[in-house]
Amino acid sequence: MTKLELPPSLWAATAAEPPATSPLADDISVDVAVIGGGYAGLSTALHLAEAGRSVQVIEAGEIGWGASGRSGGQVIPGIKYDPDGLVKLFGEEGGRRAAELFGSTAAKVFELIDRHGIDCDDTRTGWAQPAHSTAAEPLALDRCRQWKRLGADVVELTREEMAERLGTDVYHAGWLDRRGGSVQPLSYTRGLARAALKEGAKVATRTRATALTPTGDRWRIGTDLGPAVTARDVIVCTNAHSTGLWPKLEQSMIAANSFQVATTPLASNLSATILRDGVVASDTRRLLSYFRRDREGRFIMGGRGTFAEPRSPADYRHVERMLTRAYPVLSDQPIEFRWGGRVAITRDFLPHLHRPADGLLILVGCQGRGVALQSKMGEWIGDYLVSGDPNRLPLPVVDIEAIPFHALRKLYVSATLAYYKFADIVS
Ligand SMILES: Cc1cc2nc3c(=O)[nH]c(=O)nc-3n(C[C@H](O)[C@H](O)[C@H](O)COP(=O)(O)OP(=O)(O)OC[C@H]3O[C@@H](n4cnc5c(N)ncnc54)[C@H](O)[C@@H]3O)c2cc1C
Repeated sequence: MTKLELPPSLWAATAAEPPATSPLADDISVDVAVIGGGYAGLSTALHLAEAGRSVQVIEAGEIGWGASGRSGGQVIPGIKYDPDGLVKLFGEEGGRRAAELFGSTAAKVFELIDRHGIDCDDTRTGWAQPAHSTAAEPLALDRCRQWKRLGADVVELTREEMAERLGTDVYHAGWLDRRGGSVQPLSYTRGLARAALKEGAKVATRTRATALTPTGDRWRIGTDLGPAVTARDVIVCTNAHSTGLWPKLEQSMIAANSFQVATTPLASNLSATILRDGVVASDTRRLLSYFRRDREGRFIMGGRGTFAEPRSPADYRHVERMLTRAYPVLSDQPIEFRWGGRVAITRDFLPHLHRPADGLLILVGCQGRGVALQSKMGEWIGDYLVSGDPNRLPLPVVDIEAIPFHALRKLYVSATLAYYKFADIVS
């Protein structure tokens, strides 16, 4: 996988042609510069263009080159914290507000798809979370009850009901979140780009922002191609691909790999039982497996990646083992595509919004769950910029803090993975 190309597997699997975009050719002055052409950057650009702002997106690769084009496409409301966890973090009122806000993220994806006619194979039959063991069942069911108390459209599933939905009986009881669903990730990202372009935003691809310099009450964004963008506000949406643009940003998170494999399309007898109504799922393991079917009937399984970039099919073997562990019936199904991408994990497992200087807002850290979250973030960031009111953001703005001993991340990521693996086996 070269730096500026998407993995061929994703080009093959996508539904829509890329929008016409090209590298930045000339200097340009706009209201807002958005750095990063993933869900977050494109949704931000779209919402700001709709609000009448002139916007320039700058993307180092092609549209969706980062995590957005490669994701599992699962549209899951919420963040890594359950509603009760958010109350513990932010108090009764703040926690409830956060849960309600983050609970609304999946609806945003489907609203954008409908409003802009985005062709991305979306499904809206829910996201299931099956327990991987008897011990994990109470946790999954309690999570469901917490959302139900907030009025969310969720339902508990018995082990038998789960087996019926998933088409495998290896899992235990769990729950179904009917607010969720899926998209073909690259098609959705391209659709966001197309919508932003239609609303008047400019999108430059294969253009890397290299320096952010304040000049009076504006910012000058230098690029590797030479031409610069001048803007009153800059929104940085580079997430796990943040390198060198702003001090300590890269060290404030761990960029971890997540890998996926897609089988060849399933035969009709398997299609009739495996995720047959289009539900998508991720289990309760700490090192979770996530899976769905695509438009052509392939079965796609994702899980943790290796620390280094993948080089050969051997690097995906553990994901293939996860696939056959969950679906023994697929043990002979050939693997057609393998690909990986990077997710940003912060120390407190929360998304981070930073405002290190006037006119500069940075968003990082979606903990591997960003299809819905980053799409909605675009609306919140747009509202904040238009109104100037920080209360329009879902979380308080925080300082950028480097994770201690970040240079040793390989060591402690490996240790954490080993611990999680052990914990998943014994719980
Ligand atoms: C394999 C995988 C599976 C996943 N599955 C799911 C899932 O099923 N459901 C879910 O909710 N989430 C999932 N995620 C997480 C989700 O994909 C991310 O949270 C989301 O895509 C992040 O979007 P983003 O716009 O913040 O960042 P990205 O999509 O990573 O975009 C950042 C962009 O910034 C660009 N960039 C970086 N530096 C510069 C620069 N200096 N100048 C210009 N451009 C720059 C990069 O090229 C990149 O395209 C998955 C992630 C991966 C990797």
